[in-house]
Amino acid sequence: MSTQTRNCIKFKERRYEISYVNIFSGDGCYSDVGRIGGSQELSLGRGCQVMGIIIHELFYAVGFYHEHNRSDRDQYLYIY
Ligand SMILES: [Zn+2]
Repeated sequence: MSTQTRNCIKFKERRYEISYVNIFSGDGCYSDVGRIGGSQELSLGRGCQVMGIIIHELFYAVGFYHEHNRSDRDQYLYIY
């Protein structure tokens, strides 16, 4: 079976890794941002099982912030 790769991110089931993403059904949709070490919480609670939300939370898990929260945002945004 061939797989088409569009990015360098791969998710696989945890076996023995010390750091991992723990996806669970909690109270809402949220995730730790970036690798924090150990169990990294990612909640997909009620109403969160939507592809766009799942991808959104997984991006947090790998370290992406919202554009308006980037440390270099002031170089690109004017706030009136
Ligand atoms: Zn968000």
